Amino acid sequence: MAEKISVFRRSVNMAAIQSGDTKPEMIVRRLVYRLGYRYRLHRRDLPGKPDLVFGPRRAAIFVHGCFWHMHPKGCPDAREPKSNTGYWQPKLRRNVERDKENIRALRRDGWSVLVIWDCETKDAVQLTRRLITFLGPTLSNSVN
Ligand SMILES: [Zn+2]
Repeated sequence: MAEKISVFRRSVNMAAIQSGDTKPEMIVRRLVYRLGYRYRLHRRDLPGKPDLVFGPRRAAIFVHGCFWHMHPKGCPDAREPKSNTGYWQPKLRRNVERDKENIRALRRDGWSVLVIWDCETKDAVQLTRRLITFLGPTLSNSVN
């Protein structure tokens, strides 16, 4: 058990090393790769073209922009636009509806789905924990 924890901690620390690229999707991709998971990008044959797809695990990850996908609950990046609301409101709400439908469709087909919000990619340690919890052990995590 203790051994397991130390391996986990080492993975977290290694993965949390700051990367130069701050684009949220790139942060997630790089972390996931460093942790030893392999994935495919934007599979067109799946609902919503998930950003990262882990075929053998039947798992998919979306990295959602807080503004575009209306991250709720006090996210500072998700404030609704004050001007041109007649244009933005329906557009953003449509995004949210589509997201829900895509996730529902994926889950119906037996996929596990994780949504990571842009603002959640700033805490690399927390993010790493979530990724490992969601994806389970990798080959490289279970060896040595
Ligand atoms: Zn957010």
